[in-house]
Amino acid sequence: MNKVAVVTGASKGIGRACALRLAKDGMTVVVNYSRSDAEAAQVVEQIKAEGGEAMAIKADVSDIEQVKEMFKQVSDTYGRIDVLVNNAGIVRDEYLLMLSQENLDKCLDLNIKGYFYCAQQAALKMYSQKSGVIVNMSSVSSKMALAGQSVYSATKGAVNSMTQTMAKELARKNIRVNAVCPGFVMTDMVEQLPDDKKKEYIKEVPLGRFADVDEVAGLVSFLCGDDSKYITGQAIVLDGGLSL
Ligand code: NAP
Repeated sequence: MNKVAVVTGASKGIGRACALRLAKDGMTVVVNYSRSDAEAAQVVEQIKAEGGEAMAIKADVSDIEQVKEMFKQVSDTYGRIDVLVNNAGIVRDEYLLMLSQENLDKCLDLNIKGYFYCAQQAALKMYSQKSGVIVNMSSVSSKMALAGQSVYSATKGAVNSMTQTMAKELARKNIRVNAVCPGFVMTDMVEQLPDDKKKEYIKEVPLGRFADVDEVAGLVSFLCGDDSKYITGQAIVLDGGLSL
């Protein structure tokens, strides 16, 4: 039987690339998303057209009830969960002195609470299976300071910390937990930046370019597979040298 992977925020960007890659690796993929129905359906279609198995589930992962319902649906449909890629996240750049309550709450609710909700539901199933892999999408912003990103950085720092603790708690049931810390990756999140900002940021990257989503998906694939079976609790940086 195929392994079953749940990828949150898989209608676009990095999550989409992870969903497509894990399907190529032979996994059945659950494409989670919160608003983009057409994009999520396209990801499922593409996986099926390439001979894989997938389904889309619309659920806001910052809402515990919707998360519980999603994992119940996955269990009812496939009977198991082998991989969780906790990826759905938002960035809301604001300088500390301008910080709005709304953006603060949105970032904390999705980037931190959402990761806990999904990890908890997945781990409950993985615990009984005595195996599983969780990959948490962090960011290089957890390791270096970018002005305007105090909240985003804090949420990604929290992701790295929760990764270590979850890894320690779950290791005895053969569940591995790692984080991936990308630098700038070409997705909506980066494309929406003004051109002069993009040029300024590219100059900071020693490899001289932003990452492609498939490069992030490749690392996620490695962390989900047997070649990484002795790696747990790590936050692995993929940033073209940005943080050096
Ligand atoms: P993106 O292109 O903006 O895509 C975000 C995805 O998350 C979409 O599929 C979106 O689906 C989904 N989503 C948003 N809110 C959601 C919610 N409440 N519940 C479920 N799904 C939700 O983002 P991205 O650039 O690929 O980023 C993905 C992850 O990588 C994030 O955690 C981000 O912090 C991290 N990251 C990105 C970069 C970068 O440069 N792009 C760098 C480092 C780390 P809907 O449209 O359907 O809501």
